[in-house]
Amino acid sequence: MRITVSAIKADIGAIGGHTRPSDELLGVVKNFIEKKGTELIIDHYIGYSGDDIHIIMTHKFGTDNEKIHKLAWDAFSEGTKTAKNQGLYGAGQDLLKDSFSGNVRGMGPGVAEIEMEERPSEVFCIFAADKTEPGAFNFPFWRMFIDAGSNTGLLINEKLAAGVTFKIMDVMTGNIADLKMWEDKPELEAALMFPGRYVVHSVYSSEGDQILSASTDRLHNIAGTYVGKDDPIAIVRTQKDFPATEEVGSAFNNPHYVSGNTRGSHHLPLMPVKLNSSASLNYSIPIVECLVFSMHEGRLTGPLDGFGTVDWDLQRTWAAERAMIMRNQGFIHPATLVPDELEYNKGYEARMDKLNQKFTSNTNNKETEKSLEGNKKN
Ligand SMILES: [Mg+2]
Repeated sequence: MRITVSAIKADIGAIGGHTRPSDELLGVVKNFIEKKGTELIIDHYIGYSGDDIHIIMTHKFGTDNEKIHKLAWDAFSEGTKTAKNQGLYGAGQDLLKDSFSGNVRGMGPGVAEIEMEERPSEVFCIFAADKTEPGAFNFPFWRMFIDAGSNTGLLINEKLAAGVTFKIMDVMTGNIADLKMWEDKPELEAALMFPGRYVVHSVYSSEGDQILSASTDRLHNIAGTYVGKDDPIAIVRTQKDFPATEEVGSAFNNPHYVSGNTRGSHHLPLMPVKLNSSASLNYSIPIVECLVFSMHEGRLTGPLDGFGTVDWDLQRTWAAERAMIMRNQGFIHPATLVPDELEYNKGYEARMDKLNQKFTSNTNNKETEKSLEGNKKN
């Protein structure tokens, strides 16, 4: 049976800042999908990661389907009315266009979708992050499919040992490169090195099955100005010919530094958190949740909370400690993002404009210095 899993997320408002949506807002989005989606979808789940609401849907319409995308768009639009009524912060902030036009891609919400021939025991994880950007997944995805040190399955599973194909997107141009393992490994790693520019779009098995889909939109590329972080969502199928569920989940067990956080302008570690967690007031440490599902004929069982077991408290502690190490150096790089990444921040541009004017006046000083030096020699 061919089934499509669609995970569509958006930030349409949160309580007291960029924390989490209100219960009323979640209720409106849930009710909308339940009422309007009965004819279209087989099953669904709605939750949140920080200030982002994710709508997970199963159906038979394939990827990029107008009806499915419009259902999610309309649910977010309906929710935005409630967010505005409640005075929630950033109400409707990820809905960047006035009206729906065929597909939510490029309109603000993030999308990850896989159309698959459903296996008898179909299993997948959904990773939903907040306060970061799509490239935040580069390192864990590399650990899942490339790094035998992280995933022994790459050695002892014949299908994984054959190597996967990564589709990598250049988020500045929208172009996609196919990189086949293992021959293109160095080029893949060269791309993954720069998470702000090159991000994993999808991963396919050596037999052509799609294992992974990730959202790749960068909101500031769409809006032309900073409107919030493009928090990513990804679907990763697991078990059998794909990495085991724990090989996929454990790729997040070494919280690495990613960009995002407060004002989308800093580097802090990506902390694995429990399902439906609020963003932290400790400078908005980036967070990632793991929703583990079983699926049969499109019907979902779950989610199991992938990072909910007690052992993940250790990673949360590490992430909090690593966050403080970085925060201790305040605004000095690499605590803050490099200028190229900050340039879309209007306040930073204004500071640099003023600074550059001062540099211009210093040119005169240099000429003065030269003439003074000349006088000395004479
Ligand atoms: Mg967010």
